[in-house]
Amino acid sequence: MKKNLVFLGPPGSGKGTQAVRLAEKLTVAHVSTGDVLRNAVKEGTPLGKEAETYMKKGELVPDHLLVGLIETMITDGKLKDGFILDGFPRTVPQAESLKEMFDRNQVPLQAAVLFQVSDVEVVQRLSGRWFCPQCQATYNYPARVPEKEGVCDRDGAALQRRPDDEEAVVRNRLEVYRKQTRPIVDFYRRESVLREINAEGSPDEVFEVLVREVG
Ligand code: AMP
Repeated sequence: MKKNLVFLGPPGSGKGTQAVRLAEKLTVAHVSTGDVLRNAVKEGTPLGKEAETYMKKGELVPDHLLVGLIETMITDGKLKDGFILDGFPRTVPQAESLKEMFDRNQVPLQAAVLFQVSDVEVVQRLSGRWFCPQCQATYNYPARVPEKEGVCDRDGAALQRRPDDEEAVVRNRLEVYRKQTRPIVDFYRRESVLREINAEGSPDEVFEVLVREVG
């Protein structure tokens, strides 16, 4: 059966890494709104220009921009063979709009997976996070280190840090998560699709739990 999933969790909970792995295993689409926005910023599109000011501060981009984006993906049929939404919804209004879009298009949601990690762990993880600007692979000191320091294992590109992984911005992102995103958990609990997983283990350990829960 094709799977339709939503991944929730604070920044640094590893949901992006796990989404890439699970999407590959289940052969479903992986939609990271963070990646879509970062590409838009890089390309200087109107969406990117509007999003950049918010992202730099660790704040959320206005709901209407993201809701339109996801709606287009649904109506264009891009998600028809199953999907993992990573980073969307991020607010209760986004979750409500998503539910309406799903209902309107007869898309069932099998699970909303909550990746749980402590704030201390998040700050530690994000301050050690690097990514490849070419293939988007992510690395983490000390948990997932590239073979050659500062260089991507897959394509040899020089690794970079995300500007919003700076400590003060991370603290703001956590605050934004607590105030605006965390309330979604109750929304999905009421919908009876919430699955909570402990995301403090190694990437392999978390993947094993994830596959057992929703794979
Ligand atoms: P992420 O890569 O998921 O941590 O997202 C990076 C940044 O992109 C966030 O801090 C927000 O500024 C923005 N962003 C990503 N997804 C959303 C969303 N669903 N709603 C609003 N802003 C978002």
